[in-house]
Amino acid sequence: MRCEFISIFPNIFKAYFSESILKRAIQRGIIEVKIHDLRDYSHDKHRTVDDYPFGGGCGMVMKPEPFFNAVKSVKEDGVDTCTIMMTPQGRPFHQDMAVALSREERRLLFICGRYEAIDERVRARLVDLEISLGDYVLSGGELPALVIIDTLVRLLPGALGDEHSIDEESFSWGILDYPHFTRPQGYEGLNVPAVLLSGNHKEIAQWRRKEALKRTFRRRPELLRQAPLTEEDYRLLSEIKEEEENESRQGS
Ligand code: SAH
Repeated sequence: MRCEFISIFPNIFKAYFSESILKRAIQRGIIEVKIHDLRDYSHDKHRTVDDYPFGGGCGMVMKPEPFFNAVKSVKEDGVDTCTIMMTPQGRPFHQDMAVALSREERRLLFICGRYEAIDERVRARLVDLEISLGDYVLSGGELPALVIIDTLVRLLPGALGDEHSIDEESFSWGILDYPHFTRPQGYEGLNVPAVLLSGNHKEIAQWRRKEALKRTFRRRPELLRQAPLTEEDYRLLSEIKEEEENESRQGS
């Protein structure tokens, strides 16, 4: 997979790409990354990338020319490209979108903004997809682009040490992950659930599934409406509801 980034802060990417899973994925050739400094595409002598807004108002607006020059230069190699703009006005990022993007055959080119806004003509002419990380405003598109890359790379074969881990984590089956424990067996007066020490794989799997359903039911019940649940899951869910009702009856 090939991912490129246009930003005025290329070092933010370099730091993240030189650690952990991203670093390994790059070394193994699972993902190829390239960072373009937007200022290299501003052809005035001060390498200016922003200017005052037409119509007045506060903040600076990122000029269109450096983005147009940068995107044109990236595309000169003729590689099919999907240009993605990071913006709070885009489609909210979601695990399903990550799965779709991880299968994308085109190169992904991320446009990261700063300041008050990017000139609207960038959106109009250069962008194929706009993605928002959530309903809040960050000071730049670098963190959102890194979040997206991090999410994608975990889905690429060979990127994670243990290939099974992505099948079992939150959202991969439409529900939240189950609780995890490691040594020591007892800590701060809290013991690891006995079933996990039993060596009975079937019971462990069932306990984990039930805990994952319980977590989802308590924290994100709306996910259960969309999740592909089995007959057994519905049975576990009715057990969970009954247990909760008993608990609240005992509590009152
Ligand atoms: N005034 C703009 C926000 C500018 S924030 C607006 O209200 O739409 C500066 C830059 O940070 C944006 O250009 C975008 O690239 C990035 N950014 C901020 N919040 C973001 C979010 N929730 N998702 C994705 N990118 C975001």
